Amino acid sequence: MTLMRDSAIPHPAWIEIDLCQFKKNLREIRNRIGEKRFCLCVKADAYGHGLIEIGKVAELEGIDYLAVAFLKEGIFLRQAGLVMPILVLGAFDPAQIQDFIEYNLEFTISSRMKAELVEEICTKIQKKCRVHLEVDTGLRRTGVRVETAIELIPSLFQYKYLELVGVYSHFASSYHPNNPVALEQISQFSFLQQKIGKKNLIWHLANSGGVMFYPESHFDMVRPGFVCYGYMPDGKEDKTGAIAPIFSLKARVSYFKVVKAGEGIGYNHLYTPSKQTRVVTVPLGYADGFKRDFSNKGFVLIRGKKFKIVGIVCMDQFMVDIGDNEAYVGDEVTLIGRQGADRISMEEAASVINTVPHELLCSLNGRLSRYYRVV
Ligand SMILES: *Cc1c(COP(=O)(O)O)cnc(C)c1O
Repeated sequence: MTLMRDSAIPHPAWIEIDLCQFKKNLREIRNRIGEKRFCLCVKADAYGHGLIEIGKVAELEGIDYLAVAFLKEGIFLRQAGLVMPILVLGAFDPAQIQDFIEYNLEFTISSRMKAELVEEICTKIQKKCRVHLEVDTGLRRTGVRVETAIELIPSLFQYKYLELVGVYSHFASSYHPNNPVALEQISQFSFLQQKIGKKNLIWHLANSGGVMFYPESHFDMVRPGFVCYGYMPDGKEDKTGAIAPIFSLKARVSYFKVVKAGEGIGYNHLYTPSKQTRVVTVPLGYADGFKRDFSNKGFVLIRGKKFKIVGIVCMDQFMVDIGDNEAYVGDEVTLIGRQGADRISMEEAASVINTVPHELLCSLNGRLSRYYRVV
C-alpha cells in the first residue's frame, strides 16, 4: 500500500483516504447512471476528503462537472490547475460576478432579480457568463418557484450576456426509496421540463439519494456527493461491495498511565474509575473536529479491541480506558475505519454524537494530516 502524505511535517493524528476505492466508487456510479453527465459534489473540502486531491482524481477519471458551494472553492480548484466545468451552487454576492467570469466558473441564479442584475453587470463589462437556474420543487431553501421558472426561463433566452446553461433543483428527502415528497419533486421538475422543452439545457436534480433510489430523477446530469465517498444514503452497506467508504481516522497513543480507583480523569473529573485501570491518551481533540460530544461516549480500536473514551474530549487530546489490556505509546489508534477484523463505521461514530456522517466528515479538519492511498 502506497500512502502519500499531504504535508512533510510529521503529526500524530491523521486521516487516510483511499483514492483507489474512490475511483471504484466513481466507476460504479458511472455504471448506474449510464450516459448521463456526472457532476461530483466537492463542496466543504470534498466532504473532508481534500478539495484539490479529490478534484484532480475526478478530472483524471473523466467526471463531467464539479459542484462547490462557494466562489472561493471554485477559485481554489482553478488555482490548482483544474480545467473541467465547475458549478457554484450557493447564492452569490453581485461583487463576485467578475471573479466567476475570470475563473470560468458557472454559477447559480435563484431569483428573477438576480438574473436581471447579472445581465446588467455583464452588459456593463461586456462579458458573457454561464449560469444555472435553481428551481424550488420542495426543499424551500433557495430557488424560484416552478410557476416563476415557467415565465422566467423564456425571458432568460433573450439575454445577451447571461447564458443559461442548466436548470436544477434539489431534493428534500431522497435518502430512502419511495418517499412521496421526492416523487412529487421529480414530478414537478418533469412538469417544468415539459412546459419549457429540453432546449439544450442541462436538467439536473439527483443527489446521492436520487442516484441510488430514483433513476427517474437522473435527467441529463446527476449531482451526488455522499455516495461517491462510499456511503449508502440509507445508512446500509452496499451489498454488492462495489461502493465502500474511503475515509479513516487514526492516531498514535501518546501517553500511558495507571489510574487508581476513585481518581477522576480529565477536566471536571467527568469520569472516575471505580477500580484501578490503565488509561491511554490519544493526541487529537475538538480543535481537529473530533467533537466534544464524544466525551465519555465514543469508542476507539487499539490492538484490535474496542475501548471507551473517558472524560471530556479536550482541544488537542482525549483519554481512553483500556482496563487490564495492553497498549504502548506509539500504538495505532483507529477512531473511524478498520483495524484488523474490527471496524468503527462513520455511521456508528456519527450516531454516538447524534449527527449524520456528513457533519462529522466535514468537521474533521486540516490540522490533521491527510494520507492518500494512490495504488
Ligand atoms: C450538497 C448538495 C448535493 C449533493 O448531496 P449528497 O446528498 O451529498 O449527494 C447536490 N446538490 C446540491 C444543491 C447540494 O447542496
